[in-house]
Amino acid sequence: MKLLSLFTVLFWLISNSETGQKLTENTQLDVLNYHIQLKPDIKKKFIEGNIVINFLADSNSSEVFFSCGNLEITEVKGDYVKSYFQRDRKLIITLNEKIKSAYEIQIFYKGYPSKGVEFFSDTQQMHTVFFTSQWMVCNNALTDRAKIKLDLTIPEGLICVANGELINKEKADDLTIYSWVQEYETPTYTYGFAIGPFNEFQEKGNGILLNYYSHNHSDKELDIIFDYTNDMLKFFEEKSGVTYSQKTYSQILIGNHYQEMSGFAILKNSYAELVLKDSTETNLISHELAHQWWGNMITCESWNHIWLNEGFATFMSAAYNEHRFGKEVYQANIKSYYNVYQQIKIKDGDRPLVFNSWNNPTKDDRNIAYFKGAYVMHMLRLKLGNKKFWAGIKYYSQQYYGKSVSTGNFQQCMEKSSEMALKAFFDEWIY
Ligand SMILES: [Zn+2]
Repeated sequence: MKLLSLFTVLFWLISNSETGQKLTENTQLDVLNYHIQLKPDIKKKFIEGNIVINFLADSNSSEVFFSCGNLEITEVKGDYVKSYFQRDRKLIITLNEKIKSAYEIQIFYKGYPSKGVEFFSDTQQMHTVFFTSQWMVCNNALTDRAKIKLDLTIPEGLICVANGELINKEKADDLTIYSWVQEYETPTYTYGFAIGPFNEFQEKGNGILLNYYSHNHSDKELDIIFDYTNDMLKFFEEKSGVTYSQKTYSQILIGNHYQEMSGFAILKNSYAELVLKDSTETNLISHELAHQWWGNMITCESWNHIWLNEGFATFMSAAYNEHRFGKEVYQANIKSYYNVYQQIKIKDGDRPLVFNSWNNPTKDDRNIAYFKGAYVMHMLRLKLGNKKFWAGIKYYSQQYYGKSVSTGNFQQCMEKSSEMALKAFFDEWIY
């Protein structure tokens, strides 16, 4: 693998990093289920729809709030709904009683999202990217996991990919309604969808259906680009000790972002050319796939611990390269991560991996989470030795699959599994 092209990839990764959403906690709420019906207009860059939210709450107040981005709320329905208003990208609903029960409310909305959704009207494509509350009203709290059902009404001939499983495809005049359901809970930042006139190429993995999509690549090209997906899946299953939990994994070449979402990933369309030129250049395919474990199912409890998502996925991409190409490529990857970190250090921009406040991260702060994070994982591997390191990773992944984590949880797991004291290491490198 050419180091220069790896740097190009890393640069894309840095300049399109997935995180940075300012978080407002709403931890008193426990959303159980979201059901969204959405009708996007790609040409007008407009969305309109409604969402039914089932939630549990326990509070001394009669007010409940959800994040709603810049969406315009047109109606709120529900047995206990008294009134509602919008302020600071929140929808605040007053109920007839103090909140101490299970509720169902339905919210109607529309809007022209300026972020969180990318539209490409000339090619009839669109996709969501990270800022979920810009296209669906939701509780943004990272620790609130919920199931999700998406019904998307789109022009006939287009394909829609979303979270979970496609359970129905129904014609309605010259439109098609795609229904996707995810029957287990994940945080809202893992939700999303992509729509376009895609060519679809499918192959069977280990009992999983692998779907590849692009509007301008042939079956043969898609097969080449994503050739190693199944090998990566097996590798991450082995390292985590946890079987991939969905029936499908989809990858869509679209737009200008890299973003993992639950059950699928979008990859910058031009990335395909890089892989077609050099088939060893699959770092971002493996990075995004690694997030299906570390980032989407094992999720940081606050953005202050974002390195548990990004440092892990970046490190796992190098670890996969070691498995596929050998030690030298792994070492070259780690060196490139270290070099990014060194450049930040030289500028006096170094800081602990655990942030005190991840509200307005700079580009260097993001790179700390990604590249210092991955480098520190490598250092931990050197300290523990291969056997203890990977046993610890497996123990941690199995313990926290489907749960929220802090860096303390990770440290405890690594210490318990290795029977080594790691406080000095974590103090030096992480806190
Ligand atoms: Zn990532």
